[in-house]
This record gives sequence, C-alpha cells and structure tokens, in this order.
Amino acid sequence: MIVFGTRPEIIKLAPLVRELGDAAYVVHTGQHYDPGMSRVFLRSCGIERVDLQLHVGGLPRAAQIGRAAEQIAEAVTRFEPRYVVVQGDTNATFAAALAANAAGVRLGHVEAGLRANDRRMPEEHNRVMVDHIADDLFAATEANRANLLAEGIDDERILVTGNPVVEAVRAQRAGAADADVLAELGLDPDGYVLATLHRQENVDTPENLLATLRAFTAIAASGWPVVFPVHPRTRAMLASLDATHLLDALIAEEPLPYERFLALAAHAALLVSDSGGIQEEATVIGRPVFVVRDSTERPEALGSFTRLVTPQELAPAASALLGAIGPALARLATLPSPFGDGHATARIAAHIRAAVSPRPEES
Ligand code: UDP
Repeated sequence: MIVFGTRPEIIKLAPLVRELGDAAYVVHTGQHYDPGMSRVFLRSCGIERVDLQLHVGGLPRAAQIGRAAEQIAEAVTRFEPRYVVVQGDTNATFAAALAANAAGVRLGHVEAGLRANDRRMPEEHNRVMVDHIADDLFAATEANRANLLAEGIDDERILVTGNPVVEAVRAQRAGAADADVLAELGLDPDGYVLATLHRQENVDTPENLLATLRAFTAIAASGWPVVFPVHPRTRAMLASLDATHLLDALIAEEPLPYERFLALAAHAALLVSDSGGIQEEATVIGRPVFVVRDSTERPEALGSFTRLVTPQELAPAASALLGAIGPALARLATLPSPFGDGHATARIAAHIRAAVSPRPEES
C-alpha cells in the first residue's frame, strides 16, 4: 500500500508506483485536493490508478491526521497489505504511518532522516515521528543516516538509497519540448527568474509575504522577468490582505503541471523558493536557488546550488548573482547532485520485494 496526499509526495512516489505496478494498492488522502495540485499531478507523473481516494483536505491538522489515519486503518484491515510506504513529512505521511504501525504492518519511510532542527515547523514533527515508528528508513544521503543514528535509531533499520526525485526529474526531462513552454510566456533561456512560495512561515506571516513579493517586483523592475506560479494558500492569503496588486509586475500563473514547471526551472537563471523539493530538483537541472527560509533540512546543497536568504536580502542578492550569471551557471553544470544517482526507486523496490516475499517455511 502506497499512501500520499500532496503534490511533492505524488512526484517522489510515482516512480515507485510505476515500478511496483499491479503489486501496489494506491491511496490518496486528498490533503491537496485542488485539481491543479492533485489530478494534474497524477497525470503528469504517470499514476494511472488511485485505488482509494479520501477527502481530508482543508481540515485542521489534527483532524486531517485523525480522519486519514482512521480511514487508512480501515483499508489496512480490509485489504491486508504486506507493507505500507509513505514519503516525506506531511499530515498524510504521519496518518498512514500511524495506521500501519497500529495494525502491525511493516512500514517504509522514503526520504527518512531529514532535519531542519526547527521545532516550529509542523513538517519537522511529522518527519521525526514517522522516522521513529517506521521499520525501514530509506535515507537519501549519508547525512540523513547520521541524523537518524544521532537520535538513537538502529542502523539496521536504515538504507541509504538516494532520493527518488532524481529519477522523477529525469523521467520528466526525457524528450521535453522546452522551447514551446518558454515561447508561450515570451521568455529567453537563462533570462528570467522562477519563484514559488507556499510555506506556512512565509505565507501566513503577512510581513514576510509582502516583503518577499516586493522583492520579486524589484527583481522584475531590474529587467529580469519573474514567473510566479501561485500556490492556492498564497493566493488566498494575498486576497485576504487585499494585496493581489503585488502580482501585477510578475508573470503570475496557476500552479503548473510538473513537466511545464521543470521546463521553466531548467532554463531559469535563478530559482527563488521555500520548497524542499525544488532545492533537490535544482541540483539535477543545474540551477541556483535562493531559499527564502532561515533553515533547511537539505544542507547537502548549501553553498553550491542553494543559499538561504531573508525577504530583505532577496533583491540585492539576486542582483549580485544575476550580474554574473554566466559563470555561475557554467560552474553548477559541472557539479553532480548530492541527492542520488537516479536509482533510489530501484533500491527501495528491491528492499520492499525482499521484505514481503514469503520466507522459505511459508512457501
Ligand atoms: N511544482 C510544480 N508546479 C508548480 C510549483 C511547484 O510542479 O507550479 C513542483 C516542484 O517542482 C516540486 C514540488 O512541486 O517538485 C514542490 O512542492 P511544494 O513546494 O508544494 O512542496 P515541498 O517541496 O516544499 O514539500
């Protein structure tokens, strides 16, 4: 049973869904329910079938986790999976982990061991709790393994696999028709900035949100078009602050399907984001990211592909980087991704198959 609830989970678990084929029973909790964040993504990522669709989106966190856990537990009782797989740090991740744990079904956590060491983030609580109840911890990097060991987790539960985002990006980039996507928006390769913003600490704090959007406007005014696919949470907050005019100077879009987003990311001179996945994807497509946060659970890319900036630092830092962007892009093109070699999914699938295959005395 593979359980996900949000856009990044769909992206990173899709290669495993495809790899396991008919052996996988697929559950979507409905945490992201907007069609642009869910249905479009299933299609973009080649997930042809969701066996069980729940509808917990829009509820407060504890209610989302509680209801999803209860319904996933019912499905576990009914369908008796041999193994449950979750990914990342969302409410869906934690809910499914609880349901598997309560039923005594073996649980695997993809992207285990990430730590921002910031207890204000709900994501940090979700990932810590899931790591401590999962049986198999699929860590992307050795640093992630070290985080788990430091918390007293037994090394035998940990397997360093790389992050499936590497193969997810490569699958989307094969045969991509980027020129059309750029032409539709009137963009030149290496001539624009691509920005996303969705995290609670940025979007729900009006001064951070407004300062970041003013910085985007300043970057656009300096001659670098800023493409900004607007997350539903961000759009709702801007409307409630009566600040949608801050989108006027930007190329503001609805959330983009994955293949379109990656096409734009692959030719952006600079990405600006508070997303976790984008910090990883940037290392596969060789682009720099300014991360609008004061911590990151992905330190592997800091100082090479990524840099933390405050909303106030953003416009001057962008101006400095964009002023010498050619050499910066040339240098990044030579660096490997620290997040894996594109075979994480194959390793995870092999481990799961071995775990569920009947022992000699059973067969
Ligand atoms: N993404 C996308 N279209 C967009 C914005 C983002 O496909 O318009 C992708 C992006 O490539 C990344 C993922 O969505 O893989 C990031 O999701 P999100 O920022 O919601 O979550 P996080 O990565 O922080 O967990």
